[in-house]
Amino acid sequence: MRNTQPIVPQLLGFRNTLYAILSLRSDEPIIMLQPLDLPTVLLLHKLSFFVAALCFLYVRSQSRESVGLGFLAIGFFLVSMASTLVSLGKIFTDFTNLFSLAGNFAGLVGYSIFWIGMCRISSQKRRRREWFILLLPVLVCASLVVTGLYVVTEARTAASQTASAILLFAAAYTVFSDRIVERLPVRKTLAATIAFAAFLSALVVIGTLLPKIAFIAPRNAFFVSIVCHFAIAVFVLALVKERAEEGLKRLADLDILTGVPNRRSFSVRLPTVLRQGDAIVMIDIDHFKRINDGFGHLAGDEVLVRVARELSIRIRPNDSFARFGGEEFILFLPATGEGEASILAESIRQFVSSIKHTIDEQKVVATLSMGLAVCEEKNTTPHALMKMADMALYASKAAGRDRLTVYRPDDFADAPGISSNMRHAG
Ligand code: GH3
Ligand code: MG
Ligand code: MG
Repeated sequence: MRNTQPIVPQLLGFRNTLYAILSLRSDEPIIMLQPLDLPTVLLLHKLSFFVAALCFLYVRSQSRESVGLGFLAIGFFLVSMASTLVSLGKIFTDFTNLFSLAGNFAGLVGYSIFWIGMCRISSQKRRRREWFILLLPVLVCASLVVTGLYVVTEARTAASQTASAILLFAAAYTVFSDRIVERLPVRKTLAATIAFAAFLSALVVIGTLLPKIAFIAPRNAFFVSIVCHFAIAVFVLALVKERAEEGLKRLADLDILTGVPNRRSFSVRLPTVLRQGDAIVMIDIDHFKRINDGFGHLAGDEVLVRVARELSIRIRPNDSFARFGGEEFILFLPATGEGEASILAESIRQFVSSIKHTIDEQKVVATLSMGLAVCEEKNTTPHALMKMADMALYASKAAGRDRLTVYRPDDFADAPGISSNMRHAG
């Protein structure tokens, strides 16, 4: 819009309002605002990278396990330094082009490292092939030198800002697309902010090459990008915080020894009222105390971890499962029916009982007793079905262990007495 007369008067009003809100102005004398002076904008611009880099370092010091924050800090420090190199070129006028080229190179290396940092913080993975991105600054600067364009300010600015825009867009895309693997609410906002910073770099390219059609003068684009850098730092901080909170929530749902869901998270996931065919299986390792007493608690722990792993591998995607406590586990098999539930439970029992755990060079077998109860009537609560499965488990124990018993009301007519003793028996 610079040096052009708006065709529609309303557009002029809109633009004046926009500039007034942003305290910016075009280079036309349409509103009575002072122009932003370029040295101040550039100083603030490089300081914004510096402050954002300090912010990344602070978050890193608070969250050592986060991967990528150091790279984000190094990236922004380099971009800040790049800006300083370009400014030095204006002082040492004999070497202006050299300083500027060095500045552009440092800036692109900085943006490349920022991209690596964003990929890492987004996926929490380190990939060696990411380093290939450093070829980009080398290629861009080598082409400027080979073509002799490095002496043309516009060519240098356009080349480096185009590459920066590509790197920023790529970083935004990575943050956004990784939401499929890890759903964090702030991802979209962070990706949008980085994409906006990329868009501003693209506007600088247009403003440099085609000043007559540029919507915003490069200095104004730089000014707005200052806000973007602070916003990126804040949203990265929010991402680290959201991830930490998700981690805590996950931990609260898992059993600390075996890593499988705990009783609390299992109960939360159960429906309040069961449907016909829903089944619950209570599982208890037989004579587990003997393993502890004979081989020590650590050996007992190993057996628990192995049994939990085998159970978690063998259940179906819609089934729920948890360590219920001690050496007891529980399965919830929705809409399964007695036949299918019995086959599944029996196959798990037989498999786990066939495992020979090697403890102190001795082979130890841990058999399982199981109780299965299937919902026959509407409006049965999970608690009631658990009680029935528990009775069936007690019956397995009483009948000699290493077996599955299916709860049938007729077999448990004297249930209350059995039920109250049962928890002590297992
Ligand atoms: P039964 O065949 O009747 O089920 O006998 P049991 O020995 O398996 O059952 P009991 O309830 O007598 O003993 C369970 C033992 O499990 C006692 C407890 O020390 C042990 N235990 C509970 N939690 C853990 C754990 O996290 N690690 C280890 N190593 N042992 C545990
Ligand atoms: Mg036991
Ligand atoms: Mg027990």
